[in-house]
Amino acid sequence: MSNEPLPVKFKPYTRQSINQAPQWELLSKDLQEAVLVVSRVLPFRTNQYVMNELIDWNNIPDDPIYRLTFPHRDMLEPEEYKVLRDLVLVQKDEIAIEKLVRSIRMRMNPHPAGQMTHNVPTMNEEPVRGLQHKYKQTVLFFPSSGQTCHAYCTFCFRWPQFVGMDDLKFDARESNELVSYLKLHPEVTDVLITGGDPLIMNTRSLAGYLEPLLAPELSHIQNIRIGTKSVAYWPQRFVTDKDADDLIELFKKVVAAGKNLAIMGHYNHPVELRQEIAQQAVKRIVSSGATLRMQAPLIRHINEDPKGWAELWTTGVRLGAIPYYMFVERDTGPSHYFQLPLAKAYEVFQQAYQLVSGLSRTVRGPSMSAFPGKVVIDGIVTIGGEKVFALQFLQARNPDWVRRPFYAKFDPEATWLDDLVPAFGEKKFFFETEQDPPRATIHILARHDKVVRTAANADLQPAVSIANEV
Ligand code: SF4
Repeated sequence: MSNEPLPVKFKPYTRQSINQAPQWELLSKDLQEAVLVVSRVLPFRTNQYVMNELIDWNNIPDDPIYRLTFPHRDMLEPEEYKVLRDLVLVQKDEIAIEKLVRSIRMRMNPHPAGQMTHNVPTMNEEPVRGLQHKYKQTVLFFPSSGQTCHAYCTFCFRWPQFVGMDDLKFDARESNELVSYLKLHPEVTDVLITGGDPLIMNTRSLAGYLEPLLAPELSHIQNIRIGTKSVAYWPQRFVTDKDADDLIELFKKVVAAGKNLAIMGHYNHPVELRQEIAQQAVKRIVSSGATLRMQAPLIRHINEDPKGWAELWTTGVRLGAIPYYMFVERDTGPSHYFQLPLAKAYEVFQQAYQLVSGLSRTVRGPSMSAFPGKVVIDGIVTIGGEKVFALQFLQARNPDWVRRPFYAKFDPEATWLDDLVPAFGEKKFFFETEQDPPRATIHILARHDKVVRTAANADLQPAVSIANEV
């Protein structure tokens, strides 16, 4: 008898259908209510694999994958929850619900880091739909059919996209414009295909985006990256889905064309890699000649344990994956529920790093994908009697900033770059004085006023920034 896993049909659950899942009855009335109420504000989608294999139903609601995928009442402020609960469950007043939901979403800083107007490139003086070009070497591409996920993460900084707040400004229906743009930009070496999750697409659709990138005129494109969480939420995509073999063949084709194909796998917790099918997915990806890099944000309630990160990286390395990034959770959505101070993030990273061998120390972090670039916390040190965060850019809008150390006053409460102020009596960080005026204005506004929290205006509307992945 064969041990091959059998194909399983993907079955998503949403607010409308979650009561049909067998596990629904395992939730207390309070938890059920929280799902029905909070999912009015934040997106909710899970699937049978996440529910059957990843969540430990004996540990509800503290199970990390439950926290990762199920809305919880503490994700709203207590008063917000109380009023919304009454509207949803008692009054059932859809107009009032819509009004309240909108105001809560606006309070949640739906558009962090003000990037849209700075990252969308132009061609023939028109913005190129579905593209972002933030760093010189890397272009991000948002295919229209990859703008959803196999399940939604409750912390996701793209949440406005999934609840219809953004009209998918970044999605592209086809790759013609991408190809034309790349032909004009020989400095671009990397294309990141992202979403949502591009691997929600069937292989044929994905090939329609990938194959044009193999054209001889695009020989300057050396690396094609695909950002995906399917390695954790639906590893069947690589193993038993009916076009899984075709997907692996497509990967091989990209590699055979001389490109480095990098699957940017989003893993939040070691349980996601304990599953046999998830391990098979890693092996199949790697056997295609693609590389698989592991990255995720550090999230309170979900992955604060350094030992969990160490297990994740060590297992990944054993299977052939490459630990890549630990990110700092962004200031958006229910961030009060998920954020950890930068000092704690540094401690978790350092402890996890100390637990693994050199092969896992390819990982970098904790890193903030902030407006000026990707800033890593290198350490907490005392210099000349002042306690400071030692920081540097791993990636930056201005390439000259990369790897230039800089220092911020130590602040035990700070959770993001915007909360930090320069150390040693400096008035500004070096990159603030060197930025062009509009960017500096936005950053300084964001730093001091959190103006993006109320930014309903188009100029501060980055929608689905993918900075976490580049
Ligand atoms: S885009 Fe990534 S982080 Fe956001 S819900 Fe989808 S899988 Fe989760």
